[in-house]
Amino acid sequence: MKKASVSDISRDVDQVGHVDLADLPPLPKPYNETESIPKFRPLTDKAKESYVSDLDDTIVLSLPKPKNKGDEGILVRKFLSGLEKLFSKENNWTFLQPLTLSMENCAKCQTCNDACHIYEMSGNNDIYRPTYRSDILRRLYFKYFKPGGKFFSKWRHGDIDLNWRTVVRLAELAYRCNLCRRCAQTCPIGVDNGLIAHDLRKLFSSEMGIYAKELHENGSVLQLKVGSSTGMNPVIVKDNVEFIDEDTSERTGMKIETPWDKKGAEILLIHNAGEIMSWPENHGAFAALFTAAGIDWTMSSEAEEAIGYDNINYGLFYDDMMLAKVAIKHAKAAVNLGVKKVVLGECGHAHKAFTIIADRVLTGELNVRRESAMTLMEDIVFSGKVGLDPSRNDFPVTLHDPCNMVRLMGIVQPQRRILKKIAPKFKEMTPHGVNNYCCGGGSGFAIMSGHNFQDWKMHISGRKKMEQILNVFKDEIDPSIQKYVCAPCSNCKGQIRDMISYYDMWNKAGINYGGLVELIVNCMTDAKPGFIEWEVY
Ligand code: SF4
Ligand code: SF4
Repeated sequence: MKKASVSDISRDVDQVGHVDLADLPPLPKPYNETESIPKFRPLTDKAKESYVSDLDDTIVLSLPKPKNKGDEGILVRKFLSGLEKLFSKENNWTFLQPLTLSMENCAKCQTCNDACHIYEMSGNNDIYRPTYRSDILRRLYFKYFKPGGKFFSKWRHGDIDLNWRTVVRLAELAYRCNLCRRCAQTCPIGVDNGLIAHDLRKLFSSEMGIYAKELHENGSVLQLKVGSSTGMNPVIVKDNVEFIDEDTSERTGMKIETPWDKKGAEILLIHNAGEIMSWPENHGAFAALFTAAGIDWTMSSEAEEAIGYDNINYGLFYDDMMLAKVAIKHAKAAVNLGVKKVVLGECGHAHKAFTIIADRVLTGELNVRRESAMTLMEDIVFSGKVGLDPSRNDFPVTLHDPCNMVRLMGIVQPQRRILKKIAPKFKEMTPHGVNNYCCGGGSGFAIMSGHNFQDWKMHISGRKKMEQILNVFKDEIDPSIQKYVCAPCSNCKGQIRDMISYYDMWNKAGINYGGLVELIVNCMTDAKPGFIEWEVY
């Protein structure tokens, strides 16, 4: 079922859309044969019995089915109440204006659909059109919130039946978008279908308690409670970093010691704490680079009042209030230490959350200076403070652009200038920069893999990036040639790591991945050669 009309969202049918691998665009070699591609596992009977599963072939939210008419009515009433708040100035203090403009101005030209990697790589499955989700909300908006809407809006905007199925399917549908906003960039009049998906998530989270557990309970809530959504408290983080320092000292031959809680330091470095757990070499490389360049820096180990060792802010993906709470604590960490500025490590969503969206809440002394690690690394690399031997990076390298840094913030050139200087075999994917495609893990998908959602991510949302990576390396796809996808973002790395593992891309195509700072340290003459290790786990 690739064809679906907007009104199907309310119909009493088993499933609105269906994913069939035979419909998907083929992948380049060595994944051009059906046998070379993993299967899409169907949902289990137990999952189908227990949860709402009638949108498509996967589940993110694990919503229980309503037990009776009363439950169904509650879903509709709560949704309408949330909708009213979404379109009120007092409640939607972040995005009311662009949301309203996006509701009222779509020209129905459908240009945006071609820009969406999810729609394209699903084989043009209607329910994944950027405008499909938006048209549902648009019809509800005109029907319930515009004068005379119940009588006249169906003639102008199309009718829609608001029942419990509409509500729960729309909630799931809000999690079939990477929030990459490639569609918004393409729209000739600036309608933002990504924002519409985002604000739907917000309505469901703040008004109905419907959210992805990975983002809320295991994400923002845990972070506010213990200091990090990884569950690491300051003691554990410091222990881990001590171990990383020892390991990095051995690997580089340098004396590495991460400074903690240094008052008045020039820079407070805040990583996505996932780096410390999953990619310790990323922190190790920052520590080695800063040591070699003589940077005055510190990390923060505060937990109760601030969370200065984990720049994650999943509120960006689903709930403005959660974003604000986390951002304020991040700013307090910097104020408490009296540092000159905060530098955000290699994490795209943390960049956008703390440097752009948080501006709405960081007033007075909390309005601390903030900088991307991309520009700081560029300054160091071109300052002459560290010796560099690019011949140590003599392997094919490509760059994945994290949407949040590039399209959504405009940080495009620093990382490229660095790579052109330190990686002689660097080449660009097509397209790249502000026209990049999402890795497929954006908006929190990188940490979601319940039920069979991993299969959906790997086959649908991540398919375009996989195609781009295979194409850029097509002349050296031989697995004996080791290749490096540079992804300066923790969430993107998570998605690319899972993609490499799912498709066995290391053994079949010699493709590995990592951050940007690791490539710098790999060619830094202060360090022993061989900082990058090529094992894939
Ligand atoms: S959102 Fe923009 S590009 Fe898409 S159909 Fe509407 S006007 Fe056209
Ligand atoms: S924001 Fe990205 S993933 Fe979402 S509809 Fe637009 S192009 Fe598709």
